Amino acid sequence: MEAVGIYESPDSESRHIRIANEAVWIGDGPRRDYLNIEKVIRAARRSGAIAIHPGYGFLAENPLLAKACDEAGLIFIGPSSDVIEKLGNKVMARKIMAEAGIPMVPGTENLPAGDEGLRAAKAFASQHGYPLMLKATAGGGGRGIRRIENEKELREQYAIARQEAKAAFNDDSVYLEKVVVEPKHVEVQIIADKYGKTVHLGTRDCSIQRRNQKLVEIAPAFHLSPELADEICRTAVKAAKAANYTNAGTVEFLLDKDNRYYFMEINTRLQVEHTVTEMIAGIDIVRTQIKVALGRELLFDQDDVQLRGHAIEMRINAEDPKNNFMPEGGKTITVYQSPGGYGVRLDGFCYQGFTIPEEYDSLLVKLTVFGWTWNETVDRLRRCLTNFVITGPKTTIPFYLNLVNDPDFRGGNFNTSYLDTHQHLFDYEEYTSEVNKLARLIAEIHNQGKNIYAA
Ligand code: ADP
Ligand code: ADP
Ligand code: MG
Repeated sequence: MEAVGIYESPDSESRHIRIANEAVWIGDGPRRDYLNIEKVIRAARRSGAIAIHPGYGFLAENPLLAKACDEAGLIFIGPSSDVIEKLGNKVMARKIMAEAGIPMVPGTENLPAGDEGLRAAKAFASQHGYPLMLKATAGGGGRGIRRIENEKELREQYAIARQEAKAAFNDDSVYLEKVVVEPKHVEVQIIADKYGKTVHLGTRDCSIQRRNQKLVEIAPAFHLSPELADEICRTAVKAAKAANYTNAGTVEFLLDKDNRYYFMEINTRLQVEHTVTEMIAGIDIVRTQIKVALGRELLFDQDDVQLRGHAIEMRINAEDPKNNFMPEGGKTITVYQSPGGYGVRLDGFCYQGFTIPEEYDSLLVKLTVFGWTWNETVDRLRRCLTNFVITGPKTTIPFYLNLVNDPDFRGGNFNTSYLDTHQHLFDYEEYTSEVNKLARLIAEIHNQGKNIYAA
């Protein structure tokens, strides 16, 4: 199969364009052309494509893209538009899951606007107590979620939350959910064909987050007992079946201190962190997605899935962790030297001399490492981080170096509050401006084709 990539002007130097067999420019952007269904479909038709893989981000969870593909006679590599629509709405998803008997925290339906909504919210609070999570029903990517500690905050935040939801997701619906205190984020990779077979590929722990967005992902969620992991995985399969799910998806849960688990949402697309599951399952999830979308049966049964070893992914972002993870877009990468070796996988799109577009997500490269034991994996990860040199923008690498040395990380003692409770992780030496200057000099020498060591 040949691949056609699409791009907007600010993305014209990204590597995906060179790797694809063909690249189609779809507009000046930024973002609005990637979000333009008509243009995406037109690019697919013109190039003679038979299918569209939506990736993650942008239109990946937009049911209208799946629908437009159906109408244009293209195969959408993902679930049906129907399923995407139902599950993209968190309140609707909760309803379907409640009917299927999937455990979840108490929550409300969509709340009305204005005073009426505030009254309903207060009634829920008096029944269930604070803290509460106020969530955008159409939210995603860690956005549109706020923790409400008391009635005063509820009054202050309610209208703002609605406005922000409207601006971000073009839908001002919000609802309340009870907070799970210091939970672990545990999710399950599932894959289903069109003939009723649904298989899970085990768990992932994604508790290490900033602003409700994942930074580090681990497969399997190794702190779970085998019995509990199995139960959560079987629940995930049941959830997928209840939604008539096909193709790859992720069922997300929160786990409390007493090991009770609660359904959170289903992501109807390939997840950024699918790489850790591929490592321990030995299954190419993207390839499987394509086969299933083409109408093939899944070639493996649940019993064929053998998970072994451990894998960790770290999202190497162009961000300054010390400055609230502020994006470092617009900067040029002066030196890029990546690690390698047994059990090391890199998924990225940048290179030395690349100027990071300001217009998009700050993820530069995903570092995924495999090991047969947990300690082996963490040791390998540390070696990789030590050898990974990216100068120009600040990145999350020095922060991760502290993280892999932290006894709580190594011991598996972390939950979604980990960053808040481990402020010493932010204590590290930045590359000095001298090092950056030297790096730029080396890059220049390198670009002139001279031997760096000789120079
Ligand atoms: P979630 O936090 O919803 O479980 P992910 O962490 O996989 O899922 O990604 C969250 C969202 O952030 C995605 O739906 C996507 O919109 C966005 N996102 C994350 N990384 C990227 C990226 N590299 N490029 C584009 N969008 C991204
Ligand atoms: P998104 O669609 O943005 O990924 P999620 O509903 O999956 O939103 O929640 C993202 C993160 O927010 C979770 O991983 C968790 O850290 C936090 N979170 C969400 N709901 C709750 C809750 N009820 N209690 C505690 N934390 C929560
Ligand atoms: Mg989520």
